[in-house]
Amino acid sequence: MRITVIGTGYLGAVHAACMAEIGHDVLGVDVDAAKIEALADGRPPFYEPGFSEVLTRTLESGRLRFTTSLAEAGEFGEVHFVCVGTPQLSGGHGADLRHVNAVVHGLAPHLQHGALIVGKSTVPVGTSAALTADLARLTPADAEIELAWNPEFLREGFAVQDTLRPDRLVVGAPSTRADGILRELYAPMLEAGVPYICTDLSTAELVKVSANAFLATKISFINAIAEICDATGADVVTLADAIGHDTRIGRRFLSAGLGFGGGCLPKDIRAFMARANELGVGQALEFLADVDEINMRRRHRVVEMARQLVGGSLLGRNVAVLGAAFKPDSDDVRDSPALHVAAAIRLQGAAVRVHDPKAIDNARTAHPSLDYAHEVSKACENADLVLHLTEWQEYRELDPAALGKVVRQPRIIDARNALHLDRWRSANWTIRGLGRAAA
Ligand code: NAD
Repeated sequence: MRITVIGTGYLGAVHAACMAEIGHDVLGVDVDAAKIEALADGRPPFYEPGFSEVLTRTLESGRLRFTTSLAEAGEFGEVHFVCVGTPQLSGGHGADLRHVNAVVHGLAPHLQHGALIVGKSTVPVGTSAALTADLARLTPADAEIELAWNPEFLREGFAVQDTLRPDRLVVGAPSTRADGILRELYAPMLEAGVPYICTDLSTAELVKVSANAFLATKISFINAIAEICDATGADVVTLADAIGHDTRIGRRFLSAGLGFGGGCLPKDIRAFMARANELGVGQALEFLADVDEINMRRRHRVVEMARQLVGGSLLGRNVAVLGAAFKPDSDDVRDSPALHVAAAIRLQGAAVRVHDPKAIDNARTAHPSLDYAHEVSKACENADLVLHLTEWQEYRELDPAALGKVVRQPRIIDARNALHLDRWRSANWTIRGLGRAAA
């Protein structure tokens, strides 16, 4: 099929390349000319494992091209995926839909007869109904333009495999024709047994925000329990292992630590609450305010632990920060808990040097006043305290004895509860986790 992918960020660029990988002719579109130029040259504008290979392969196959022109997209595509950002409104909790609206409204005059627009961005329930009404106004009645919603569940760090082999496909389809087009488009996934759930537009929109609300709640649940563990001397890691054996609970997303961040969960739960308020059912999601607050409290807790561990004041201390990305295997620093903590510690007068395997450039753009180092040993030179804030594999494999020779004081906070406490202790480090008083 001839498809376009509009918005080639973390989601769209991977979607475009993967759709070409399964045999479609794909045109990627973005307003960011530098990003489009990089992608067309085969240079990924962000770090995502395996993406570079798929991008190179599909560019070479001739099935993937890029443009900044919506008119070209309209002329080319039978199916148009909308993958632009839906950030938090500045000055509010709702989702800022201006990019989604700009794409759909901008594309309307250029659409081919019978074109299908498919939203992938995460949007508040009711968005696709409003856009359907807009399209009815903006396109001739006999043009037979339709709009479906197909929310995306990919995880950064696993984006390629999640796109090629998703754990499910969810499609809000306005007609059996739209459903048929998407089944054909995703045929290789359906043949591989990927569950395909076809529903109405509102349910499809709600599936995505509900999934994110559930995941956020699960993380904040275990972080709330970590607070109780801290107050009682219990160990949250053992507790999570123990309750995680119950298959109704499961161990995943039950790791207490610094909490969630990134370009999705924080803004999505806030937008969900804002939308519920608009619908007059705000009470139903009031608990998400607690989920959000528990999550933000983790960051303050780590700053406070850091202050206490260096003797009551961070002023004039050297603090090494391991990790800047919001999660490992990504260079995405949007709402990164690690950078939030690093900046707060610097504000208290410490000199902060940050290491990250992939995210230093993005981190420097977001927080130019922090210092950065490309090697862990450089970041830790003369440190009075080391903070482990993003659980990259390479940090798990650090040699505590060797690092002990570099720092001024062998003290570390493992804010991801991912390091081996005994290994660090036997190399004479003072190591603290979150909710791990007993360990
Ligand atoms: P992003 O910021 O990385 O990418 C958005 C892209 O859209 C940017 O390249 C931007 O230049 C482009 N854009 C903005 N306005 C445009 C316009 N008018 N025309 C063409 N391009 C335009 O964001 P992202 O992380 O890829 O997220 C996109 C959407 O997908 C969001 O709604 C997000 O919540 C959702 N989502 C993201 C992920 C993820 O892991 N990143 C996962 C699932 C869902």
